Amino acid sequence: MGGRFLSIGECMVELSQAGEGLLRKGFAGDTFNTAWYARACMPADWSVEYFTALGDDPLSNDMLAMIENAGIGTKNVRRIEGGTPGLYLITLKDGERTFSYWRDTAAAKKLADEADHLRQAIEAADIVYFSGITLGILSPDAVETLLSELRRAKAAGKVVAFDPNIRPRLWPKGETGRQYMLKTIEDGARAATLVLPSFDDEKTHFGDATVEDTLAHYKNLGVENVVVKNGGDGVTLSFGNAPVTHVPAVKAPAVVDTTSAGDSFNGGFLARLVTGASPELAAAHGAAVATSVIGHHGALISPELLPK
Ligand code: ADP
Repeated sequence: MGGRFLSIGECMVELSQAGEGLLRKGFAGDTFNTAWYARACMPADWSVEYFTALGDDPLSNDMLAMIENAGIGTKNVRRIEGGTPGLYLITLKDGERTFSYWRDTAAAKKLADEADHLRQAIEAADIVYFSGITLGILSPDAVETLLSELRRAKAAGKVVAFDPNIRPRLWPKGETGRQYMLKTIEDGARAATLVLPSFDDEKTHFGDATVEDTLAHYKNLGVENVVVKNGGDGVTLSFGNAPVTHVPAVKAPAVVDTTSAGDSFNGGFLARLVTGASPELAAAHGAAVATSVIGHHGALISPELLPK
């Protein structure tokens, strides 16, 4: 029997170099990337929906059309009069990628401004996914609106999955800003039934020395299920009271572009987990998906290039 997967966050316009004086337009964003890979890995009787806010300009229309063409539902997308999407530009210099962002006025910052709308979308879902980037673009009031709806979903027995995706540039500056960021990430985790942190981020921002520290951190916050991603070293899983397990990464024949490795792992993992696979088999699928993704350029690769 099918179900509904809802991903909540910001999808942006991506501009990348396409030759002298030319830019190529694409679309990407962590929670959208995960929806893309979940769609590719879910059986046809599951729907995948994206929840965000967009403007009413041509770029917002193009983005909506792209999302729908990918087989991802957009009926919950809020349209903001006069709004525009966030945008980033990738510049390549000596093989190194630099990102410039224009997202301070993105319509997505208003995605949680209507609690009723949010509630309806979440109530209709079986699994809800969000990230630290989703929280980082919102005002403190909007964070509270979103988290209280997610706590309701958790209390109602839904799967609520959270990737902390800690990105300091989205959060207020200085030590007070940093403390607010870390506290809000922890509040996000408390609202979730499943947290999928990247060890690198946790080491940098929470000072974890080992993967076990990261497991303990989230378990101590009361999170039932934790999956710690650690690049080429694979993932470590702690589900409920079951013994901790480790699933290795799938060796990458070539690492071409690691953009979206974690997002694609999450999509492949969640798709399998909620359709009945064990956490370990789901993680093995997530790892195989991520390996395909890092073997190709770009955040979003064609579903045909993914493992079955
Ligand atoms: P994030 O992109 O969120 O920082 P990770 O770097 O931990 O996440 O990568 C997520 C997943 O992608 C890993 O669990 C692993 O399956 C896969 N992966 C990442 N880097 C490699 C690599 N060098 N070789 C093989 N798999 C990798």
